[in-house]
Amino acid sequence: MSYKKLLFITLIIVLVGSVFAFDLTQYLTLEQLKQQQQALNQLFAERPLFLFGLYFLIYVISAALSIPGATVLTIGAGAIFGLGWGLLLASFASSVGALLAFLSARWLLHDWVQKKFGNRLKAINAGIERDGAFYLLSLRLVPLFPFFVINLVMGLTKIKAWTYYWVSQVGMLLATAVYVNAGTQLAEITSLGDVLSFDLLSALVLLGLVPILAKFILSFLKRRRAYGSYTKPKSFDNNLVVIGAGSAGLVSAYIAAAVKAKVTLIEKHKMGGDCLNTGCVPSKALLHVAKSIRQTRDAERLGVKSTIETIDFAKIMDSVQDVIARIAPHDSVERYTELGVDVECGDATIVSPWEVQVQKGEEQKTITTRSIVIATGARPMVPDFPGLSEVDYLTSDNLWQLRELPRRLLVLGGGPIGCELAQAFQLLGSQVTVVEMGPRLLSNDDTDAAALVQKQLRDDGLELRLNHKAIEFTERDGERVLLAEHEDETVALPFDRVLIALGRQANLEGFGLQELGIEAGKTLKLNELLQTNFPNIYACGDVAGPYQFTHVASHQAWYAAVNALFDPYKNFRVDYSVIPWVTYTTPEVANVGLTEQTAAERGVDYEVTEYDISDLDRAIADQQAYGRIKVLTVPGKDKILGVNIVSAQAGELLAEYVLAMKQGIGLNKILGTIHSYPTMAEANKYVAGNWKRANAPEKLLGWVQKFHRWRRG
Ligand SMILES: Cc1cc2nc3c(=O)[nH]c(=O)nc-3n(C[C@H](O)[C@H](O)[C@H](O)COP(=O)(O)OP(=O)(O)OC[C@H]3O[C@@H](n4cnc5c(N)ncnc54)[C@H](O)[C@@H]3O)c2cc1C
Repeated sequence: MSYKKLLFITLIIVLVGSVFAFDLTQYLTLEQLKQQQQALNQLFAERPLFLFGLYFLIYVISAALSIPGATVLTIGAGAIFGLGWGLLLASFASSVGALLAFLSARWLLHDWVQKKFGNRLKAINAGIERDGAFYLLSLRLVPLFPFFVINLVMGLTKIKAWTYYWVSQVGMLLATAVYVNAGTQLAEITSLGDVLSFDLLSALVLLGLVPILAKFILSFLKRRRAYGSYTKPKSFDNNLVVIGAGSAGLVSAYIAAAVKAKVTLIEKHKMGGDCLNTGCVPSKALLHVAKSIRQTRDAERLGVKSTIETIDFAKIMDSVQDVIARIAPHDSVERYTELGVDVECGDATIVSPWEVQVQKGEEQKTITTRSIVIATGARPMVPDFPGLSEVDYLTSDNLWQLRELPRRLLVLGGGPIGCELAQAFQLLGSQVTVVEMGPRLLSNDDTDAAALVQKQLRDDGLELRLNHKAIEFTERDGERVLLAEHEDETVALPFDRVLIALGRQANLEGFGLQELGIEAGKTLKLNELLQTNFPNIYACGDVAGPYQFTHVASHQAWYAAVNALFDPYKNFRVDYSVIPWVTYTTPEVANVGLTEQTAAERGVDYEVTEYDISDLDRAIADQQAYGRIKVLTVPGKDKILGVNIVSAQAGELLAEYVLAMKQGIGLNKILGTIHSYPTMAEANKYVAGNWKRANAPEKLLGWVQKFHRWRRG
């Protein structure tokens, strides 16, 4: 704790201690007030402003220090100043005092509490952010909840100070008025309990329920307004219609069919969506070829003389299509029909909350359905750079039609897709330049992981242009160039083909969302049940965000489908607590949970343990002795907060940690598990061993040493 905070706490302790040591609270009793009423009334008649100021100061200080006596002070306001002025003074003084107590608690303890319990408080923080004002209003309306406890506890949450102030002032007004009014007839009050009769208290408790009720009514009205003019069919053709047959849509439909619901899956383009046709599958097939080229080149070092004579790029790209064709049956119309899904190949449009229209050429039909799952995915984001439309640019959508290897390929964007494809094309024979606006590649990954990848890319011969902001595509001296801004200068970067890899944009337009009023930002706005603002319309996958991976799409699909079919009888909140992701460059970068950056941003305390994979027997034998595992744990405990691996097969190594984090298994248990020799997975055991050594119980070991000495005699 900082010196300033220590000084502040000492001051508060001294002040509160003095109040009790000198028994100052005796002046904040009903008896004292009654005894002094005449004198106070006289003082008010003689020096009203002085008494206003003094009263305000005493109230603010006692509320800020959480000294008992607020009730007597409020009654006193009525007794001395009358109802009007008394209410004004007591209302502002109590609210300002409450704010000071709130701010003190926030300054002293908020960061510490959030740092220590941040992860567990996530749900509470989200709730407070969303509905904090409603909860606070309820608490303030009912004078049963201790004033000072609310001040101190709310200071530890993330509610805004201004919201706290005005809600407190409004919420406390009624009870303050009751007490101030009672004070105007002080003589009739024999105890504080007299002020609030059972009936009055019950009325205030009921009033306290109003904000919560209001919240429910508001959300009910919002839903009704959303459904507005639409007429709900009396019966439905389907339980569920799923729009889009990518990873998210396929899993949603599969789950619905598995639980015997009547489900239609509508796809307008290719079954399997992005992952199968233009994403994970072709990119990994191409990376495999690139890796084979690397291995062949490296073989000479091992005494195997081989040369690569030609690289038949067109054939390689055909082989990628072969891979797609081999996997396609898993996602085919035939397979899903067999599973019990009605598959429609056509364009879907949501025409009402319960109706989806399918357009197949000239043919059109409308399906009525109780629920809808939107799984329309995303597409490459292509900003409107001047000159871009004239350069016949590539994206991950059309790249797979390429049959001529670009001599100079410029990859715009240093995210996972950009890095994977850039490295692959360099190994296939292009001269690749990666242009990235930020100071490093892979901005979502650990900084040192990105540095290791950058080093390998440079070793592979790629040119990395970091801190280069693309401005315009044009021609200079008969060749295509990208003009980029770098350190206040314009740099011209020549290329033959350009691949735009600047992220992916959710598919939200053209199928009825705007007409219906389904709320969206960059992705659809969803609650934790994956519901849109129409509670029977759900979404999952890239169109839903916040993560755009195939495995997250399938994970969400389970929640979307189950909730769509069983809500309100049973529903599940989507769980994003353990999300892994892998970038398949060489070396691979695999993550789960917090990185050092995200832990620091969220103020989470962590301990770092690393293991250097260049020491691992299997990695050495495989000529892949590079990389490291980094594990973040709760300080002094083996609970895993996050793992970042940079190595060959990092994605495979990660699986053990994903399981451990999901099932609450710590590093001690990983250390106590047999890992086959020699495997890459042994690295997981060794990093757990490093953690154990760093956390060895030194005192206990001292005693054990003495025990052994004693046994030796
Ligand atoms: C090059 C590349 C590499 C990738 N590599 C990986 C990886 O290694 N690992 C990973 O986890 N993720 C990877 N991804 C991301 C992954 O592909 C996506 O996260 C995943 O495919 C999303 O699935 P989805 O079902 O949400 O969307 P999609 O797969 O895009 O499916 C949406 C479907 O909806 C259809 N559709 C849209 N509108 C309508 C309509 N109105 N009517 C009917 N049908 C409609 C579309 O035609 C499409 O088939 C990669 C992506 C790219 C581009």
